[in-house]
Order: sequence, then structure tokens, then C-alpha cells
Amino acid sequence: MLENFASGAAPDGQPFQLTVLRNAAGTELTLMDWGATWISCRLALGNGTLREVLLGCATAADYTHQAAYLGATVGRYANRIAHSRYRQGEKTVLLTSSQGEHQLHGGPQGFDKRRWQRVSHDEQQVTYRLHSADGDQGFPGNVDAQVQYRLTEDNRVEIAYLAHTDKDCPINLTNHAYFNLDGDGSTQNALGQTLQLFADRYLPVDSEGIPCADLTPVEACGMDFRQPKPLNRDLLKDRCQQRVKGYDHAYLLHVTCQRCEHPAAILTAADKRVSMQVFTDAPALQLYSGNFLGGTPNRQGGEYANYAGVALESEFLPDSPNHPQWPQPSCVIKAGGKYVSRTTYAFEVTA
Ligand code: BGC
Repeated sequence: MLENFASGAAPDGQPFQLTVLRNAAGTELTLMDWGATWISCRLALGNGTLREVLLGCATAADYTHQAAYLGATVGRYANRIAHSRYRQGEKTVLLTSSQGEHQLHGGPQGFDKRRWQRVSHDEQQVTYRLHSADGDQGFPGNVDAQVQYRLTEDNRVEIAYLAHTDKDCPINLTNHAYFNLDGDGSTQNALGQTLQLFADRYLPVDSEGIPCADLTPVEACGMDFRQPKPLNRDLLKDRCQQRVKGYDHAYLLHVTCQRCEHPAAILTAADKRVSMQVFTDAPALQLYSGNFLGGTPNRQGGEYANYAGVALESEFLPDSPNHPQWPQPSCVIKAGGKYVSRTTYAFEVTA
């Protein structure tokens, strides 16, 4: 099955390279070097069946023909930088645009569209590295990035990001997996899932996803997930969501989340058989309800509909290089310094 999946060549003419991680519980994770992409997450339900909980495509080649960033490692700067520019001291740094005049997800040739080198792997982990040259997508400095995926025996998927730069540069790496804990989203949308998100404030955005106001309390609008709530309960109920067809907003997490002792979010399947806790040391989580997924190739050779999956992207707040006043650590890594970030998706299966 994997041979057929991986047949064909990547845009650089070379084959796709897949890695499968497994644990004694029967969980299987598939990763791909192209985009350091998380392809599949099949959880053993305990009755001999496996449940795919990630959105994905039928073939590796399909991943190079979709704009949803399915499962990809996103960088150098996940999310948006307004007008593709930011100030650094006296200088304005001009970036390559990828969404109208803005830069989205690291530019038109972001890290999701690169071949990463697999530098080590076994059944528990795989580690990829990527060199991004000075000036890549407009960003200053040579950046060496690394991402490691690890599957533990208790069904935790631990993602560790590391990057070094030789010039001051904003760095914000994330994974763009879409979850549908009821199945892979081809037949059932993701909106029946229940979400709890440990954040008191979110960033309002304009219709292009650019922050258009300061951090805003979640109360008294549909943005509030402090108590578990089905995604469809308040979907599109407020103007904030109507501008972007649903949830596509960054939440500033409680500071207790950053020590990874407390989850940032908990997602539960509509049928309650599977739940997932998200732990991260990143300051924010982007909740994206798949508002523009329609037309993305699915695993059956057809297309996903909008809202087929939900992404929970750990990151700095969007457009942070232009908002140094926001209450989070600086996203600009100093020359000679390193960026480190960890996100864990911890799955639990109920028999
Ligand atoms: C963005 C969405 C975008 C999606 C796919 C998300 O992280 O916030 O606006 O449509 O990625 O590009």
C-alpha cells in the first residue's frame, strides 16, 4: 500500500521517502520527507480496528497539488506577516508574498514545499533537517531547521522543533495537521468534535486573516472554548468568524500551558471513542476549522469538503514581527541563537 502511495516523483524529480513509526498499542504513524509531513495517524481502537484521525491524500504526489498544508511542517514563519514586511532596527525587511500582498506560512516556497533530509529514524522516531539559505523567501540569515517526530508507547506524538540562525530572524515552526477524531473526514465533517481551549484572549482578524485589533477577551462571543463545546455550537455566530468563514484565529494560551504541565487544548470525537490533548510551549494556538478545505484531494481519490478537519497549530501570534508589544517571548531569534519548541498531541482511546 505504501509503495503505491509513494509512487511518482516529487517536484525535485526524486522519489518520496516514507517512514512508519509503531508502538505496542498498535498505533501507526506515517511521515514523509517532502515537507517533513505527517501523513497518517492510525490509532488502534482496541477491537482490532484502526481509526485514521488525520486528513490526508491518496498519494504522496497529491500533497504537492494542494494548498491546505495537510500535515506539513510550516516555516520559517507559520501564519501571516502583514504586507510581507517587518522592521528590524532601522531596516525594513521585505519578504516574498504568498497570499495577496501578505506572506502566509513562510512564503510561496515555504518549508512545506521542500525536501527535508531524514537524518535518523527507527520505529519510535524520525528526525528531519533542512537548510534554508540567507535570503530564502526574503528572510535574513542561514537557518538550519530540524524537526523530530516521536511516538511513545502511550500514544503521544511528540514533535520537537529546533533551528539555528546566523542573522536575526523571526522563526515560528508548526505542524499543519488537520484532525478528525471520528475518522479521516471524507464522510463526516469535523464540527461534531468537542473542543476545550485554555485561553482567555484571542486575536480578531480581518477578511485576509490579518490581526485587526488587540488581543480580545473570549467571553460573550462564539470564540470562547474555556469550557468544552462542540465546534458547531457557535460556528459563524459572530462577525469575527463571518469574516473568515469560521474559526481561523490565534488564541493566547494561559501561561501555565507553556511549561507543558497543562494542556493547551483538548479535542474529543463526537462518538467519544478518541480524545486528544495538545501540549505546547508555544505562546499561542491557531484554531482553524478548515473553512477553505473544499476541493483538497482526500484519501479516497475524491475531495474534502469545507470543515472536514480542524487544525490546532502551535505558534507565536500571527504577524508578531510587527507587534513586539504583545505579551509573549520575542519570535526574533538572534544571530547565533537557537529556536526551540515542542508540541505533543496525546491521544487516548476509550474501549
Ligand atoms: C490559515 C488559514 C489557511 C490555512 C491553509 C491556516 O493556518 O490560518 O487561513 O487557509 O492555513 O492555508
